[in-house]
Amino acid sequence: MATSLLRVPPPQSLLRPLAVPERLLLGPGPSNVPPRILAAGGRQLLGHMHPEVLQVMDEIKAGIQYAFQTQNRLTLAISGTGHCAMEAAFLNLLEHGDTVLVAVNGIWGQRAADIARRLGTLGTAGQHRPGDGHFPLCFMQGLVQHKPSVLFITHGESSTGVLQPLEGLGKLCHRHGCLLLVDAVASLGGAPIFMDQQEIDVLYSGSQKVLNAPPGSAPISFSNQAREKMLRRKTKPPSFYLDMGWLANYWGCDGEPRRYHHTAPINSFFSLREGLAMLAELGLESSWERHRANCAQLCKGLSDLGLELFVKEEKARLPTITTIRVPEGYDWKDIIAFLMDNHAIEITGGLGPSVGKVLRIGLMGCNSTSGNVDRVLRALRDALGCCRRSRL
Ligand code: PMP
Repeated sequence: MATSLLRVPPPQSLLRPLAVPERLLLGPGPSNVPPRILAAGGRQLLGHMHPEVLQVMDEIKAGIQYAFQTQNRLTLAISGTGHCAMEAAFLNLLEHGDTVLVAVNGIWGQRAADIARRLGTLGTAGQHRPGDGHFPLCFMQGLVQHKPSVLFITHGESSTGVLQPLEGLGKLCHRHGCLLLVDAVASLGGAPIFMDQQEIDVLYSGSQKVLNAPPGSAPISFSNQAREKMLRRKTKPPSFYLDMGWLANYWGCDGEPRRYHHTAPINSFFSLREGLAMLAELGLESSWERHRANCAQLCKGLSDLGLELFVKEEKARLPTITTIRVPEGYDWKDIIAFLMDNHAIEITGGLGPSVGKVLRIGLMGCNSTSGNVDRVLRALRDALGCCRRSRL
């Protein structure tokens, strides 16, 4: 028998069956995927240029236009997660030498400023106290002082649980010759947003939160003003994969025959299509109301347990993700581990500026139910009884 040339054996771990336990995902995302969306993602593959797939892409586009409340032609899904859409927005909109004003009210502003700096665009950050729903008036000052071509802001700050009011911001930006770029990864479908009426120039989201699809595709849309800025570029965007000119063509947004750009994650698109279809069937207003009501029930239950809500002002609370202060006498890691080990429920600790300070509970899309509120409250009551650290 010939001596094998292989020096690396097949890994034992791969010779065992795939293990995926049942869990209730009540962290800040991903949320559980309902059977209908799972089934869509499990359908047999088609080719990425087959008319049926292009048709699904058109349906996704219409679903995003509905979810975003926009008529924008340049509307599509990025083949990647929310970060990928964030990078796509920045690297298509901006060129070296442009100035971006980034509103920092949690980790997503910090990351946006990081991306802006990597691109050689001056990322000027406006600080904002985490947990505070009101943005300071420094916006106006920032627009006058830095003359940015783009202002970035996060609608639903998942690290702090704050919902950012956007009213009037688009108009203000446009008065100062600036485009408004909004991250709605954690809020889309859970809190009202009106891309066209609020004069938002670029809006993006993710698939794995309220839309209940697996991570890996990210809705995004560009206004005409944003499109025109991209058309005026002197240099090509520094990424081929995320080049909006190519993607617009592949998604049928430029009126030209569609050309191969990359092999789309077709099954992710099937899932995203179903997530958007479920949102369309439920209706945006019912979805917003469902998230509002279940968040209110959760907040009341948390207060009844003696837990302190991190975001004091009710209307500044993000309906999809609720934050509570880590209770005195407890280690946040113990509480999270207790819920996972004893109740198969995921909640998480803070992120970025809120690490060690808060616990985050997400109720998104199909996971936003009164029954899930009761389940997580029961689990937390148990945890409070079991996880207190004795003072030695
Ligand atoms: N923005 C916000 C507000 C988010 O909550 C997240 C995900 N937690 C992202 C961006 C990044 O999305 P992803 O993890 O899908 O890349």
